[in-house]
Amino acid sequence: MGVSENYKTIIQELESLKPVGTPTLIAVSKFQPKEKVQEAIAGGVIHFGENRVQEGIEKFSDLGKPEKDFILHHIGPVQSSHIRKYAGLYSFVHGVGSQKVLEELKRRMDGDRWKIRYFLQVNLTKEDSKSGFSKEEVLGLLRNKETLSSEFCILEGFMTMGPSSGDPEETRKVFREIAELRKEFCPQGKLSMGMSGDYRIALEEGSDYLRIGTAIFGERT
Ligand SMILES: *Cc1c(COP(=O)(O)O)cnc(C)c1O
Repeated sequence: MGVSENYKTIIQELESLKPVGTPTLIAVSKFQPKEKVQEAIAGGVIHFGENRVQEGIEKFSDLGKPEKDFILHHIGPVQSSHIRKYAGLYSFVHGVGSQKVLEELKRRMDGDRWKIRYFLQVNLTKEDSKSGFSKEEVLGLLRNKETLSSEFCILEGFMTMGPSSGDPEETRKVFREIAELRKEFCPQGKLSMGMSGDYRIALEEGSDYLRIGTAIFGERT
């Protein structure tokens, strides 16, 4: 099946499982050729995710107007050196995982006058391979919630990854814990969780943004 058929099949599934408050589906196009992105845009896909800022620039900068023809998300761990490249193209960042990155993001976006919405990455699995804040660190940040957003840099919510084991029960536990954190400490915040292998669990646990690559585009080349 083609890219837009896969996308539509998942959208239909999401709408049938959750007709009210259906999460936003981000088509993760990392490592996929530009032709597939063009095909997806022609088929009505709006939200895309790239994990390498430069790859996203190469693919998307002449595909139309950001925020109008497509909305581009930077997903995965963010390094400070990425941030100066966001202006003019990226609308969302999923994976702000350190104080240093957070400060640089605010400084740059306010300087560039380019609006970005970001997710704090929360790492509950404590796997060394995953970056992000611990739950305690996030609670610390939320104590000064007003400092977390500025004119051009806006806290959208929390992002997490399921455990590498892929175990469904473990995955659900992690997603549920983030959902509870949101409910208790930042009810207006959104949740970015769920990938090809675990998006149904994420949906059940209240995710607002699903980041799905393989199930839409096929295996990465
Ligand atoms: C690659 C990636 C995805 C998509 O993964 P799939 O398993 O292909 O759906 C989602 N989120 C992040 C952070 C990624 O790096």
